Amino acid sequence: MIFPYATIEPQILLYLTWGYFCGSMNSTVFGGVKITLHGHASLSFEYRGVAVYVDPYVLSPMAKPADLILHTHSHFDHCVRAEKITTPNTVVIGHGCSHACRQIEIGEKASVSGVLVEAVHAYNISKPFHPKGFGAGYVLTFGAPQSPVRIYVAGDTDLIPEMSSIKCDAACLPIGGKYTMDVTEAARAASLLKPKMAIPMHYNYIADLKADPNEFRRLCMEFGSGCDVRILL
Ligand SMILES: [Zn+2]
Ligand SMILES: [Zn+2]
Repeated sequence: MIFPYATIEPQILLYLTWGYFCGSMNSTVFGGVKITLHGHASLSFEYRGVAVYVDPYVLSPMAKPADLILHTHSHFDHCVRAEKITTPNTVVIGHGCSHACRQIEIGEKASVSGVLVEAVHAYNISKPFHPKGFGAGYVLTFGAPQSPVRIYVAGDTDLIPEMSSIKCDAACLPIGGKYTMDVTEAARAASLLKPKMAIPMHYNYIADLKADPNEFRRLCMEFGSGCDVRILL
């Protein structure tokens, strides 16, 4: 019998083993919230046993069942039926996505399993793909009221004036350009939002969305946003 790892390069085996024991390498912890970027713009947030997913188009093999799934809009890379993580108790909320059991309007708030959700605008300024009102971003608040942690998931958006009134501790921002902000616009958004931490997303997964997350990090420093950029993929 041949040992199954015999054909794997030692450094790759070390990488896989490290990932297995340390949890996935596409995760970080901020304010007690474990944030995972599964790929593209598919995120999950775990806090005290509650799992929230946003746009679960891509899912890691180890993805846990969801308490709450949020969809930002109806495009194929955001609005998907995520059977793998859906249980009879999963609440599915969306803006314009037909897979959501419950629609949420911009400015509306919801509370699910102790997580506060607020839908905010996400739209294009100079592109036709996401007119105003078509899609949403979300501000998620974990740990309220004692120690609230506010995480902004921007959705498919350009740099929009509404961002100046969004208060968040962390921000997940699209950087891929074409349909959303590019690295420069996203770094300017970070200057406006002033999160302590930022995660770039919506890049290097779909063929025509190429971006360099290290350039996003460099521009965040150059523009003086002062945020800790965590590149998860
Ligand atoms: Zn879109
Ligand atoms: Zn998209």
